[in-house]
Amino acid sequence: MTIRALVWGENVHEQENPLVAGLYPKGMHGAIAEALNADAGIRAETAVLQDEGHGISRERLARTDVLLWWGHAAHGRVADATVEMVADAVWSGMGLIVLHSGHFSKVFKRLMGTPCNLTWREAGERERLWVTAPSHPIAAGLGPCFEIEHEEMYGEPFGIPEPLETVFISWFQGGEVFRSGVTYRRGAGNVFYFRPGHEAYPTYHLPVVHQVLRNAVKWAHNPAARIADPNAAPNVPVDKAPEKIEERGPKLHAHGQEGLR
Ligand code: ZN
Repeated sequence: MTIRALVWGENVHEQENPLVAGLYPKGMHGAIAEALNADAGIRAETAVLQDEGHGISRERLARTDVLLWWGHAAHGRVADATVEMVADAVWSGMGLIVLHSGHFSKVFKRLMGTPCNLTWREAGERERLWVTAPSHPIAAGLGPCFEIEHEEMYGEPFGIPEPLETVFISWFQGGEVFRSGVTYRRGAGNVFYFRPGHEAYPTYHLPVVHQVLRNAVKWAHNPAARIADPNAAPNVPVDKAPEKIEERGPKLHAHGQEGLR
């Protein structure tokens, strides 16, 4: 079965900054999609902020198995309605991979429920990512650690909820450390945050990063049928209770009344 991935790129630095445009002539989203499409088991498309509706609709998310999200300069320009669509899709079972500065995206903060803040420095430091869960599918094919020669530093404390699993911890030349690969389950959806990917460096051209992204797409894919409405909260009337019961005591709700929200 082919996993259908959608790579969402903010596509602002690539349009406005010659350095980034030179590194990523097809956009970071283009480079990431190419890396995913190198795997016969994945078919990746792209969407960008500037597309109609940011290239996101309920229909498109319904036929997306795993969404990847890169944003930085324009988190605030993503419509709240789009954020809710993505959250609903994740709760229904769509996989989500949030990349680098996507830690501050509305989508990630909505799903984490915490500030997702961190410390940072742009000094081209070497990053060494230690694999803390060697048997995790996202770490498949990797050694004990791998290095990225030039990266932006992200440091702890990282304002996220305690992860389900921590797959990578980064060390930076300046001495800071960071939980750079963490997983969550939100509703029926698998969520992975992967730290590297600063726009001023060629991180998304590195084979080891491609490997992690392909592993992550396969891990995040939930093959079960989507939950039709993850927000549904139906009333179960007395006569539909699994065991026969008599209604008793006072009550607030009329028969057949919609629940309160
Ligand atoms: Zn960055």
